[in-house]
Amino acid sequence: MLVTLNEALEIAEKEDFAIGAFNTPNLECMMAVINSAEYYNVPVIISHAQLHEAIMPLSTIGPIMLLMAKNAKVPVCVHLDHGESLEYLKQALDIGFTSIMYDGSVLSYEENVKNTIQAVAMAKKMGASVEAEIGVLGRSEAGGKEAVEEKADVYTDPDLAKKFVEETGIDALAAIFGTAHGVYKTKPKLDFPRIEKIKSLVSIPLVMHGGSGVSPEDYTTAISKGIRKINYYTYMSREGVFAAKKLLKTEVGFFHDIADTAVKAMEEDVKKAMKIFYKK
Ligand SMILES: [Zn+2]
Repeated sequence: MLVTLNEALEIAEKEDFAIGAFNTPNLECMMAVINSAEYYNVPVIISHAQLHEAIMPLSTIGPIMLLMAKNAKVPVCVHLDHGESLEYLKQALDIGFTSIMYDGSVLSYEENVKNTIQAVAMAKKMGASVEAEIGVLGRSEAGGKEAVEEKADVYTDPDLAKKFVEETGIDALAAIFGTAHGVYKTKPKLDFPRIEKIKSLVSIPLVMHGGSGVSPEDYTTAISKGIRKINYYTYMSREGVFAAKKLLKTEVGFFHDIADTAVKAMEEDVKKAMKIFYKK
């Protein structure tokens, strides 16, 4: 069934776990994620990143995401990930997305606030939720590139986070504290005291981006410090590639065999992540 981000996060708060948010730029990813959520009987977030517009237009995948969410046996939030333009966010809301993330993190603080306020007003009109970000995350989101090395001066400042949340009225905050998008070259070092500080200052759920590749212990600690949504994509997608490559060494008759093999491999990886996120 279709739910908003707020409704999904309420369940996460109550049950004391983090909800997985997975990019689903194609049907294979969507099937892997929803099958896994139904397997564990947990709420889940499927998201479309603006960055993926070139490989899959929102106007095509959006209605399919909504159909899959409505038909699912578990609560599913349909989310727009890293929307950088208000027009794109509006397009998602018009299709029926129940949550949007406005990413103005490359703008000045004032510009980011101004646009985030507009995103909140647009979403509220449609009954949808809003996530936003301050601090700068590695920009190699979901592109399969190497993760950008993070430096503490781009991490989310706790006092500024408090101000940002109060000024914008957002529902969830993406906090930067040591994770990055893409594949990690070295083990990420997470700044847990920073997350604790932010959590003590803001009353809304916190989101971890660049969640793929973080150790099980670090996920668990992050959840205990207040992370309620974990964005996960790169490592799931990679498992699909590995499985397809293996299959291609044998005789393959149909393309759907490759797709099916990738779905199964991604599903296994999503289940492993969900086991930790949802404490199963
Ligand atoms: Zn992200």
